[in-house]
Amino acid sequence: MTEPIVQSIEGRRTIVIDSQSNLPRSMPDLLRAMDGFGFTFRDDFDLKGTRPACESLRVHRFRRFREGRWWNPSAFPVVIGKDGDTLRTVTVPHGVTLLSLQMCEDCGAVVVRDVSPHAPLGAKPARLINTVTGETRVAPAVGNRDLVIGWYSGARRNGREYR
Ligand SMILES: [Zn+2]
Repeated sequence: MTEPIVQSIEGRRTIVIDSQSNLPRSMPDLLRAMDGFGFTFRDDFDLKGTRPACESLRVHRFRRFREGRWWNPSAFPVVIGKDGDTLRTVTVPHGVTLLSLQMCEDCGAVVVRDVSPHAPLGAKPARLINTVTGETRVAPAVGNRDLVIGWYSGARRNGREYR
């Protein structure tokens, strides 16, 4: 397995791992696959040009530019960290997945996040109690995943290049 790459995403140090994802090999292919569903968010922009920070520090200035659905042909694991020598993984299920794509404003590197709504396994519904009236309400434990599932590298000095 490829060594994790640490990237700075929205100011947070984030581990990005080469997962066994089913994402298309190239970003244009992913956009084509998502296009059939239509995009729920679209804000394309022009790149400013690769900064030294992109190449040497791997610090990118990410900006959301597309959001939409993608059909995942089969479940795959994503490594989210390590406990000692044990890899911690999360499984992205088969089926329709909601993706949020963020692109570096400078080099065009793209990070792919799974932001599908889901009910975490084993999560208990939240019980909300109004301490004044004593009224109780129960809210289902539904949230959005926020999982980095893919990565496309940006431009190098010799031109645009995706991995
Ligand atoms: Zn960059």
